[in-house]
Amino acid sequence: MSNLDREAVPALCGGRGFVVAEPVRELLSPRKVQLGESTEVRRLLPNLGRRMVGAWCFVDHYGPDDIADEPGMQVPPHPHMGLQTVSWLHEGEVLHRDSTGSVATIRPRELGLMTSGRAISHAEQSPKSHARFLHGAQLWVALPDSDRHVEPHFEHHAELPVVTAPGLHATIVLGDVDGAASPGTTYTPIVGADLALAAGADVRLPLEPDFEYAVLAMSGEAHVDGVPVLPGSMLYLGCGRTELPLRAASDAGLMLLGGEPFEEELIMFWNWIGRTQEDIVQAREDWMTGSRFGEVKGYDGAPLPAPELPPLALKPRGRVR
Ligand code: MN
Repeated sequence: MSNLDREAVPALCGGRGFVVAEPVRELLSPRKVQLGESTEVRRLLPNLGRRMVGAWCFVDHYGPDDIADEPGMQVPPHPHMGLQTVSWLHEGEVLHRDSTGSVATIRPRELGLMTSGRAISHAEQSPKSHARFLHGAQLWVALPDSDRHVEPHFEHHAELPVVTAPGLHATIVLGDVDGAASPGTTYTPIVGADLALAAGADVRLPLEPDFEYAVLAMSGEAHVDGVPVLPGSMLYLGCGRTELPLRAASDAGLMLLGGEPFEEELIMFWNWIGRTQEDIVQAREDWMTGSRFGEVKGYDGAPLPAPELPPLALKPRGRVR
């Protein structure tokens, strides 16, 4: 998916100074953002209160939406650089096409992982014939400076490892949990896991104390470290934890996001991540003149124009305020 915000404002993210070194319980509220005509999403990252969790730098939660008589998700071709996108569904399908020629239909609990590297463009849409409900999350992972210019590529992993405990069915999206590792390519120490809790579950998930973590609630009634987290909200957990207590009053769906705190400072604007204002200005010029980002074949419609870059120089805004 894309950041379709026409009033896009550059944000400076990253840097160790904003990471909370000890365990905390910081509830993040979503901001509603309209994506195209038919999809409204709840944006959890970047958030007024927090911009990153490890290398995770963008989190949208959408649905469940009844799209039986609707086109569903329709995001025209748009560019990315300096990041990976993760498509994660609980219901429905997303048809992905990109400028490397990849075409894939992502289904619930399959990993669609697009590494933009230096430049890619893609389109995402609900297939013409689709399930009644669409429910999922779209997430971005920032690439470290050493790898941000890698060749763009797309991975579709339909089979992912699973970890189970009484009341818990965890699907490993990225990184590893309790020895089970995702096949998805990563560039920084990171973890993402889908946690399906059964009603009455009371479990403790092992964590890496050097990572910072957050939990996104997607469905049901769950308590994360004692805090009730409603669907569409995210609880930031800080660092220094060896385990995470989880309870569920009903069947519940959560996503665990974590990683080593991201040391580098970076600039995010629209669908791009760079290190300098010049990176962003160049990306915008290249996209608007049809160079570098390639072409998405097979999408019936025009590409998205980039929003205007505000005339002000990009300024550090900090990660917590
Ligand atoms: Mn996108």
